[in-house]
Amino acid sequence: MSTETHPEPHTGSVSSKLNWLRAGVLGANDGIVSTAGIVVGVAAATTSRDPILTAGIAGLVAGAVSMALGEYVSVSTQRDTEQALLSKERAELHEDPASELDELAALYEAKGLSTATARTVAEELTDHDAFAAHADVELGIDPTDLTNPWEAAVSSALSFTVGALLPLIAILLPPSVLRVPVTVAAVLVALVITGGASAALGGAPKSRAITRNVVGGALALGATYAIGHLVGAVIT
Ligand SMILES: [Zn+2]
Repeated sequence: MSTETHPEPHTGSVSSKLNWLRAGVLGANDGIVSTAGIVVGVAAATTSRDPILTAGIAGLVAGAVSMALGEYVSVSTQRDTEQALLSKERAELHEDPASELDELAALYEAKGLSTATARTVAEELTDHDAFAAHADVELGIDPTDLTNPWEAAVSSALSFTVGALLPLIAILLPPSVLRVPVTVAAVLVALVITGGASAALGGAPKSRAITRNVVGGALALGATYAIGHLVGAVIT
């Protein structure tokens, strides 16, 4: 593999924007698959429009809230952990700056610098901003760029909702006999787009990601359609 085929790594802000965009695409993908499963399952059980609409909207709201809650809890926990590590580091720097300097020099030496160079680097960084240097090298955290749990929650709920609207609209617009085929077609096309986009944003090969996404979505729809059909046959 030649190095020319690999683009330069993105700088911090660009790569974090790409990560956000990728999270948005994956959230939309979740919204598409789960809402499509619900409406196709209900449409397999009944030709009446109201239960399909009700189930689809309930699924959209429940999914968006659950995504937001999950993101909020997970990002908050990660942020608490990072803040605890940062304040421990700040206290250690305050209490024992000499051993912290030794520690920083040892970390640079472990990265491959000579003892003398590691010492110089550690001293200069400590003079410049000891806390930032320890946060970066020791903890791998940028204290000025911690993820906001509210932002994460709102953006995942929004992206899920955008995705969920597609199968909801696709199943409600056509006449009843075309509902399921139109929805399945719209969903599979959308999964080609989200699969390709998330692979492109993550720098992975597109075709495998698209195949996995479309096959997974098709299996999900097949399963919910079959179950909805069975349940519909039993209860009617
Ligand atoms: Zn330290």
